[in-house]
Amino acid sequence: MDNIPEMFASCVFNDDVMRERLPRNIYESLHNTIDEGRDLDLTVANIVAEEMKNWAVSKGATHYTHWFQPMTGFPAQKHEAFIKPDGQSRVIMDFSGKELIRGESDASSFPSGGLRATFEARGYTAWDPTSYAFVREGSLYIPTVFCSFGGYALDSKTPLLRSMQDLNIQALRILRLFGNNDVKRVMTTTGLEQEYFLIDKEMYAKRKDLEFCGRTLFGAKPPKGQEIDDHYLGTIKPRVAAYMADLDKELWKLGIFAKTKHNEVAPSQHELAPVFTNTNTAVDHNLLIMEVMKSVADRHGFVCLLGEKPFNGVNGSGKHCNWSLTTDTGVNLLEPGLSPHENAQFLLFLTALIKAVDEYQDLVRVSVATASNDNRLGGNEAPPAIVSMYLGDDLTAIFEAAENGSEYCGSGGSVMEIGVHVLPSFPKDSTDRNRTSPFAFTGNKFEFRMPGSSQPMGDINTTLNLIVSEELEQFADELEGAEDFNTTLNELIKRTYSQHKRIIWGGDGYSESWKKEAENRGLLHLRDCIDALPYMVSDKNVTLYEKHSILSGEEIKARYEIRLSTYRKQIKIEALTMLEMVKKSVIPAAVKYSAELAEAANKKLKFSPSLDVSVEKTLCERISSLANACYRTCTEIENCVSVTHELHVKGDALVTARYCRDNTVPLMKTLRGYVDELETIVDSSIWPFPTYSDLLFTEV
Ligand code: ADP
Ligand code: MG
Repeated sequence: MDNIPEMFASCVFNDDVMRERLPRNIYESLHNTIDEGRDLDLTVANIVAEEMKNWAVSKGATHYTHWFQPMTGFPAQKHEAFIKPDGQSRVIMDFSGKELIRGESDASSFPSGGLRATFEARGYTAWDPTSYAFVREGSLYIPTVFCSFGGYALDSKTPLLRSMQDLNIQALRILRLFGNNDVKRVMTTTGLEQEYFLIDKEMYAKRKDLEFCGRTLFGAKPPKGQEIDDHYLGTIKPRVAAYMADLDKELWKLGIFAKTKHNEVAPSQHELAPVFTNTNTAVDHNLLIMEVMKSVADRHGFVCLLGEKPFNGVNGSGKHCNWSLTTDTGVNLLEPGLSPHENAQFLLFLTALIKAVDEYQDLVRVSVATASNDNRLGGNEAPPAIVSMYLGDDLTAIFEAAENGSEYCGSGGSVMEIGVHVLPSFPKDSTDRNRTSPFAFTGNKFEFRMPGSSQPMGDINTTLNLIVSEELEQFADELEGAEDFNTTLNELIKRTYSQHKRIIWGGDGYSESWKKEAENRGLLHLRDCIDALPYMVSDKNVTLYEKHSILSGEEIKARYEIRLSTYRKQIKIEALTMLEMVKKSVIPAAVKYSAELAEAANKKLKFSPSLDVSVEKTLCERISSLANACYRTCTEIENCVSVTHELHVKGDALVTARYCRDNTVPLMKTLRGYVDELETIVDSSIWPFPTYSDLLFTEV
């Protein structure tokens, strides 16, 4: 039996290790940097680096790497050996403070959206001491930010750290108004539930679509899907259980609080949820979780699919982002309190969230807009593409009562005055359990359910922090100048709720009637990525990013360009993969089977002209007609690919991406229809790839 407490974080250069290994003054100075964001003195950095290296080497590391999050959506790394020639013929293990705090790399192959002129290809990484370094597979990983020579942010971590700092300032202003002077810092906390599929490695290798696109581009519906809900929370099969056990151990060594694991709704679908932690760490940990999931899967003969919709007809995968605000004194600001002023404070933070999500529905939607999430949002089980919020009946009733100045039952018969009365207690379970809400209050945190399973979570959390910070700032401005605090507070909550309550929806978020209702309320319904992305660069939103110094207008526009071109590239890869699979495998299989049928019919007729060959004939005709349709559609898709290229060369990224959505994507759907029908009639021994039944139901 492993000693888990001993194993936990054994590969992390965390606070305990620092305290133990560093001289006291160095440790304190490093802490000032971590806690207050002060610059790290180079002599201090040198000592920290030396100790970090000694520790890492003792854990088997030979290399170090700055670990950063470029705008590709995938973490990047470049490993350097610790070795340094000793001047003769030997080496010593060396690592300097300079190497720890700053790295320089050729960034020309990372997307910059035009922020980094090609003649200035250098990118710089800088240590983020607020996220612990760790050892993995022989290297010391140092979490870093990534920027251009000109100081432009080229990653997701930089804006996230800025947004956390910004929100801290505004939240503190609010706390001071409530006489809360002990708190020095407010942090956001995040808990990310990660869904994934496990597929047999050998079958995966037979499907180019899984290999290149992370999802199946073809596949007829199997006789059984997820209809009878037998997989959700079902018994975990031994091979999957062994994988999960191994995964937990790897994650624990890395100091990740992997806590919950279970089977999800779709066959072969699973979930892992760690205990929440501060947002910066949670985001880094999620990236690591995804990497470790993939590498452990390989050891168990599996491939871990993190994509949003690997299979049509069964649930896709999401990543629920549980989000709250916590003080350095350990108080969760979204937890209803016991005293009148705690409750008033709680309601004010909640009001800020309501206003934020309503006013910035567009940015919330943009944060989850990707080509692969388009296959899931609005689909089976996933939240619809309309942003709305769920508070639960009791909280909604409390806000309604506040708005109308009416009685809320439970408040002792009198009208509840915020800041004067205690919030009537309400059972926690009454908040949530509406699983259809994209943004649900779940007792003491919000659960944002729109993110796709493969998305890195930095930008999404930046958005949440930023929009809430803006509202808190407005509230603080108003309340700090108030003559009568309680009256102004009551008025503010009442007014804001009244203006923004259209975003609150307690009914079935998946229903058709909600779509109509949302439209009547004037809520945005941005159906896909291409509808959503242009909102990124609206004046209102650029102003918001600039006002809070999260990103400049130029940086936002660069990110917008990158996301449009990522969309175009992803559609192109999928289109080309389809063409290859259809032309090289599907059509040949269809031709082969129809030839076999014709031959069989001929043989039968030769044997006895009175024999019935109508099955062979009907099938042969249907297959020929489907194969022709496939071929024709392939030609049309090829044409789309070349038009896309021409549009891309002309340079308008939105026009190009929109063309892909309106032309290539529908044709891909058409092509899929033909292929899926072929799959149901072609002899299974001739069909060229494993089917959904093979992929999802093979006993593993
Ligand atoms: P469910 O499946 O019902 O949504 P889970 O237990 O799978 O519940 O996930 C809940 C997630 O929310 C966990 O990661 C948990 O740590 C996280 N969480 C709980 N409290 C907070 C909080 N205050 N801030 C952020 N995340 C939180
Ligand atoms: Mg959840």
